[in-house]
Amino acid sequence: MKKIFTLLVLSIALSTYAQTLKSPSEFLGYELGTEFSRHHEVVGYYKYLALVAPENVKLITYGKTNERRLLQLAYVSSAENLANLEEIRKEHLKNTTGTGTNDKAIVWLSYNVHGNESVSTEASMKTIYSLLTDKKEYLKNTIVIIDPCINPDGRDWYVNWYNQNKNTPNQVDPNSVEHHEGWLSGRSNHYMFDLNRDWAWLTQVESQQRLKIFNQWLPHVHVDFHEQGVDNPYYFAPAAEPYHEVITDFQREFQETIGRNHAKYFDAKGWFYFTKEVFDLLYPSYGDTYPMYNGSIGMTYEQGGSGRAGLGIITKNGDTLTLQDRIDHHFTTGLSTVEVAASNAKRLNSEFKKFYQQKNFTYKDYVLNGDVDKIRALSSLLNKHEIAYHQGTNSTVKGFGYQTNRQTSLKSNENSLVVSTNQPKGTMVKVLFEPAAKLSDSLTYDITAWSLPYAYGLDAVASTNTVSKQNFMDQPITTKVTSNAYAYVTDWNSMYDARFLAELLQNGIKIRAAHHSFTLNGKSFERGSLIITKTDNEQVADMEAKLQEVATKHFKSLEAVNTGFVDGGKDFGSSAVRMIKKPKVAVFNGKPSSTLQFGEVWHFFEQQLNYPVTILNEAYFKNIDLDAYDVLILPNGRYSSYLDDTTMAELKDWVKAGGKLIAMGGALKSLTGSNGFGLKTKELEKETEATSLTPSHAIERERMKNAITGAIFKTRIDNSNPLAYGYGNSYFTLKLGTDSYDYLKQGNAVYLEKDATPVSGFAGTNAQKKLGNTLVFGNQNYGRGQVIYMVDNPLFRGFWENGKLFFANALFMVD
Ligand SMILES: [Zn+2]
Repeated sequence: MKKIFTLLVLSIALSTYAQTLKSPSEFLGYELGTEFSRHHEVVGYYKYLALVAPENVKLITYGKTNERRLLQLAYVSSAENLANLEEIRKEHLKNTTGTGTNDKAIVWLSYNVHGNESVSTEASMKTIYSLLTDKKEYLKNTIVIIDPCINPDGRDWYVNWYNQNKNTPNQVDPNSVEHHEGWLSGRSNHYMFDLNRDWAWLTQVESQQRLKIFNQWLPHVHVDFHEQGVDNPYYFAPAAEPYHEVITDFQREFQETIGRNHAKYFDAKGWFYFTKEVFDLLYPSYGDTYPMYNGSIGMTYEQGGSGRAGLGIITKNGDTLTLQDRIDHHFTTGLSTVEVAASNAKRLNSEFKKFYQQKNFTYKDYVLNGDVDKIRALSSLLNKHEIAYHQGTNSTVKGFGYQTNRQTSLKSNENSLVVSTNQPKGTMVKVLFEPAAKLSDSLTYDITAWSLPYAYGLDAVASTNTVSKQNFMDQPITTKVTSNAYAYVTDWNSMYDARFLAELLQNGIKIRAAHHSFTLNGKSFERGSLIITKTDNEQVADMEAKLQEVATKHFKSLEAVNTGFVDGGKDFGSSAVRMIKKPKVAVFNGKPSSTLQFGEVWHFFEQQLNYPVTILNEAYFKNIDLDAYDVLILPNGRYSSYLDDTTMAELKDWVKAGGKLIAMGGALKSLTGSNGFGLKTKELEKETEATSLTPSHAIERERMKNAITGAIFKTRIDNSNPLAYGYGNSYFTLKLGTDSYDYLKQGNAVYLEKDATPVSGFAGTNAQKKLGNTLVFGNQNYGRGQVIYMVDNPLFRGFWENGKLFFANALFMVD
C-alpha cells in the first residue's frame, strides 16, 4: 500500500514539476544566503532534483573524499539531450580526432574547490534551479555539468567552524571572531592540499576521481568558482598575462566574449568587477589552465569574500557585503556563461575540433631513460591523464638534452619511454614535458617550471623529429623468493623501494642497508641497497612468503644470494652493512608551521610511504617527552618566537642524545644563530631595492629581480652521503624561494655551485647571485644525533617525485 502511494505521489510530482519544483530556499527551510548549507543538505537538494526532475537532471556519484563525503556531478539538459547523453558524449569525444557530429555545447561548472570560499556551493543550487525553471531554453543545445562542491571536506570544515563561532544574529563587524579562521582554514582538503594546484599532479583523491569523469567529457567551457579578499569586487575573464603559448587565439577571444556578456549584466546592476589582472594562465595544475590545455575555455571567477566574509561583513568602503550578494554575483556569471555557450554551440564544436587537430609542436617526441621504477611512476601519472606512450627501439635519438641543457644524443631501447605530441593529448604532453615553458611575462604568482623529466629524475631528449617507437609492453617483474637463501638483496632508488622497506619494517622483518657499494653474483649494488638475511629474521614466521608478497606488491625484484662473502666491497657482516631502525616519527603541527607543508608531510607518510607518524600540536608540544620519538620533523614555518631558549635547549639535548631532527624550509632559520646548531644564513652583498626615483609602476618589476617563485636548478650531489643514496651525481631541484645557507662544514649532500642559473623557469638576477655556493640538503652530526636540513621542499605539492627519496633517506638511511 505504502509503495503504491509513494509511486503515485512520485508520478504526480514528475508530471508537474515545473510548477512545483522546490527552490533551494523551499527545500532547505531557510532563505538561501541566510545560513551556510552543510554538505549533506546540498547533497539532499541535488538528490531531490534528480528524483523529481529526472528527465532534466541526472545525478552521479563519482567518488568519496578522505572523510567519506560524497563527490557528485549533476548533468542538466533538455529531456531529449539527457535521454541521449551517452550518445552526445561519444560524438563530442570523437571531435578530438575530428570525426564527431556533436552540435551541443558542453559546459562544466565547478564550485568550491577552495572550501572556505564558501559562497560557491550555495550559488550552484540557485543556478541549477534557474536552469530547470526560467532559463530552460539554454538547455536545448547545452549540456551543463555541475559539480556543486569539489572539496566537501574543506567546505564542511569551514561551515562547521563558522556555525560554531558565529554571533547570533551574525556580526558584520570584521573584528568579530566569525571573520577570523585560525591556523587551519577550510581552503584546502583533508590533507591540507590546495586542490586548485593539483589538476596536473593528481596526488589527491578528489582530483583523481574527478579527472576520470572530466576526461570522459572534455567540456567546451569549464568554470572554477572562487573567492578573493573581501575588499575586492568580482573578477572574471579574460585572464591576466602570462598566458601559456599553447592557448589559442580562439580561446583568448572566447574568454573575452564571455567576459563581455558578464559585464553587460554587472553594468546593468551597477556592480563592480575587474578583468585581465592577477589571475594568469601558465601553471598547468589550475582549474582554468588544465581544462584550457585540453581544449576548453577554462576560467576562474573570483567573488570578493572567502573565509573572512561569513554571512555578512563591512568592507573597507563601508558597504556591507552579504552572502546573498555573493550568491547573486556567482549566479549571474554562471548563467551568463551557459547563455554564451548555448548561443555559440556550433562555433564551440568547430573550434574544439580544430584545437585537437593543431598538434604541430616543435618537439615531436620526448624520449626518457632511467630507472625502471621512475619510468613506472611516470607512466602511472600519464595513464591518469589518458596520455598515450610507447617504448623505444634500439636507436640513437638526437635532440635537446635535459641533463646537459643543450643538443645531445641519447641511446633509446625497449626500456625507454617515448611520449609523442602527435596524439589527442599532445598539448598536455608539450606543456608537461617541454624543457622550459615560454614566459610572456615574469610577473606570475606561481611556479614557472615543472618539466616532468626533471621532476621524475629521468634522463631525456626532446626531439624535433619523430623517433622510432613500438607499443609499450609492461615489463613483468618476476620476484622469486627461493627458500633458504642466505640473504636477499635489492636496490634502493625510488619510492617503490621506500614503500617496500616501510611495509617490511612494519611486518617486523629486519633489513640492513649497505653503506658501501659491493658486487655479488656478477651484479653491482650501490650504497643504500637493502639486504634481508635469513639469520636476522629467524623469528619471523613465514618470512619468505611475506617477503614474496610485499616484493610483488611493490614491483621489486630480489636477488637471492647464498653467501655474505662479496666479490667486491664490504661483506654482509661488515660494520658498513647496518641494521635499519624502525623509527618512531613525529611531526610538528600548529601555528608556527605552514599548513601546506605540514599537509605535504602528513600526506607523504599516510598516502605515499604508508608509514605511521604521530602529530604533535603546538598546544602541548612543549610538554611532550621527545625521548619517545626517534625522528622529529619541523615543517616549513616561522618558529623563532615559538622555539624559546628553554625549548631550543631541550631540543638540542634530545638531538645530542641520539634524536634526528629534520628541518624544512623556514624552520631552518630558527636553527641558525648562537642558540642553534651552527647553520649559517648566506648574506647577499646587496639586495637592489627600488630607489626613490623608481617610477611606481616599475617597483613590482624591480622587486622581481630578488625573487624566485618556482624554478628548476641543477645541483651537485655527494651520493656517498646517506641522505643522497640512490641518486647519481646531480639532481634537479625545484627552488621556491631565495632562502639560502652556507655550505655545512661536512655533510653537504646536495648543493648549488657558484653558477646558480635555472635550467627552467624564472629567477631574478639578484636571486641567482644569492644562491651561488649554497646548501640544498645536508646533514650534521650533533652529539649522537643528527640534524637534517632541507632548504628546498622535496614534498612540494606531492609531485616532485624524484625528491621524495631524500626524505626516505633522512628517515631510514641516515644513522
Ligand atoms: Zn580560490
